[in-house]
Amino acid sequence: MQLLLMGPPGAGKGTQAAELVKKFNIPHISTGDMFRAAVKEGTELGKQAKAVMDAGGLVPDEITIGIVKERLAKADCKKGFILDGFPRTVEQADALSKILDELGMKLTRVLNIHVPFEDLIERAVGRRICKSCGATYHIKFNPTQKDGVCDDCGGELYQRKDDNEETMKNRLSAYENSTKPLIDYYKKADLYTEIDGRQPIDKVTEDLVSVLSSVN
Ligand SMILES: [Zn+2]
Repeated sequence: MQLLLMGPPGAGKGTQAAELVKKFNIPHISTGDMFRAAVKEGTELGKQAKAVMDAGGLVPDEITIGIVKERLAKADCKKGFILDGFPRTVEQADALSKILDELGMKLTRVLNIHVPFEDLIERAVGRRICKSCGATYHIKFNPTQKDGVCDDCGGELYQRKDDNEETMKNRLSAYENSTKPLIDYYKKADLYTEIDGRQPIDKVTEDLVSVLSSVN
C-alpha cells in the first residue's frame, strides 16, 4: 500500500499517520526524518544535502529526489509506505511517479485530511499548554477544570506565540497556495481522496481505513 498523506498544519496528520503505521505495518516516511537519516548514515546524497543545509540553502530537487528514491528502495518499504511532506510540487510528483515505476510500485492513494481554515484557526487560537508538564488543552474543546491551571499538575497554562490568528492565516494560505496544483494533479490521476478532518480522531482513522480497504 503506497500512500501519500496530506493535510494542513494542525489537521492531525501526524496522529493519523501513526494510526496507519499500526494498522498496516508500513513505515511513515516524512521528509524531515528522511533527510536526517540520510545525513546520519553518511550516504553520498546525505552528505550533499548536509552541505547545502549547513550553508543555509534549500536542498535542490535532484538531491531530494535521490534521497526519496534511496529510502523507498529499502526493504521495509516492500509492503508499502506512507509518504508525508513529499512531493511538494508537480515536478516532484512527476519524479515520484518515475521512482515508483523504476521500483515496480504504484501510488495506491493520495489522502488529504481536510479541515476548513476557520476550524484550524479556532483550534490554534484556543490552544493552551502547561508550563510545567506540557499537557495540551483547548479553551473550548478540552478546557481545564480551573481557568489557566493544569488539571494534571496544577501548573500555569500559556499560549504559544505562533498560536494566533495572524500567523495561522499566513501559514495556511502559504500551504494552500503550494498544495493546490498538487491536489489538481492527483485529482486528474484519479488518486485523490479527501477525508473530513473535523471529526473525532478515531472517526478520521476509520474513514482513512475504509477508503484504503476499498482501493486495495
Ligand atoms: Zn501540567
